[in-house]
Amino acid sequence: MDLAERLADVDARIASAMRASRRAPETVTRIVVTKFHPPTLIESLYALGVRDLGENRQQELTAKHEALAGLPGLRWHFIGQGQTNKARAIRAAADAVHSVDRAKLADALHAAAPDAAPLDVLLQVNLTGDPGRGGTQPADLPALAGHVAEACPSLRVRGVMAVAPLGEDPAPAFARLADAAAVVRAVVPDADWISAGMTGDFEAAIAAGATHLRIGSAITGPRPVHG
Ligand SMILES: *Cc1c(COP(=O)(O)O)cnc(C)c1O
Repeated sequence: MDLAERLADVDARIASAMRASRRAPETVTRIVVTKFHPPTLIESLYALGVRDLGENRQQELTAKHEALAGLPGLRWHFIGQGQTNKARAIRAAADAVHSVDRAKLADALHAAAPDAAPLDVLLQVNLTGDPGRGGTQPADLPALAGHVAEACPSLRVRGVMAVAPLGEDPAPAFARLADAAAVVRAVVPDADWISAGMTGDFEAAIAAGATHLRIGSAITGPRPVHG
């Protein structure tokens, strides 16, 4: 399959999973994760109608955002681990940050542009029992949501994000994420985004209510080797 066929195939699978869950097709956004791929691939995706892109490294996000500034309507989603000293650069390039996992990062993103138009942010949830993995523990979500809502007026809390734990059935993990989303909505009532679902598990994520899918290799093909 070529790029157009892979994109069409994934979109058909998304449409069928949405129908199976009796969800309206426009309530899900398919983000194409283009990390490690060159800007030329993004130009090809753009020609196929793709507008939402995901990147997980600040330098790569910044470089591609600049290289592709001539394409109107692109929306850049930062989905990687954010460092506070890169907050200014992330804020300059991203339309949404899916990976806010601590108050310090939220503070840095706010301080980078306190008077700018609000930046959409998602709170990343750790669905494993291992505190070393990315994301905040579910028990800490109300405090983090409250902090961002009160202390970071240039950020808009839109919901939650997670990666399903490796080697586990994704369905119960995504059910825990749906619970976490409800916890955040108790603090920020209109925070109704759930960013979940990758190449291997996006159908399970749709069944659990995901509103933003982050799909890479099923659409782009294998990622180039990187250093
Ligand atoms: C790379 C990545 C994805 C996409 O992964 P695929 O398995 O290629 O679909 C999604 N989310 C995050 C956070 C990623 O880093």
